[in-house]
Amino acid sequence: MSVRILYNNCTSCGECYNHCPNDIIGWNDEKNIPYIAYPEECSHCGVCALECKFDAINHIIPLACYVDINPFMPPLKQPQEFDWKKYPLQAQIPKEG
Ligand code: SF4
Ligand code: SF4
Repeated sequence: MSVRILYNNCTSCGECYNHCPNDIIGWNDEKNIPYIAYPEECSHCGVCALECKFDAINHIIPLACYVDINPFMPPLKQPQEFDWKKYPLQAQIPKEG
């Protein structure tokens, strides 16, 4: 799991739960703490770790998010930084603007 809650630091403020755009983080009402409900659907946006003011979220970005493993995968970089000649399939997608 790439997102972990460090319960020793967690103050149950609820910011991670409220801000996760994919509803990956659930809330345990009984214990009044967040938990990672759907780890496999996490998009690694990092919002939970940014919103947590108590250093209670450890977000490790998977290696696949850093490296272009497959040349046919959508580019992870900004379009202006991207080598479009290297990725002919992406070059066919009309660019915005
Ligand atoms: S990294 Fe993003 S998608 Fe994953 S749990 Fe945190 S806020 Fe949700
Ligand atoms: S944002 Fe941090 S401190 Fe607040 S509930 Fe989530 S993990 Fe706990």
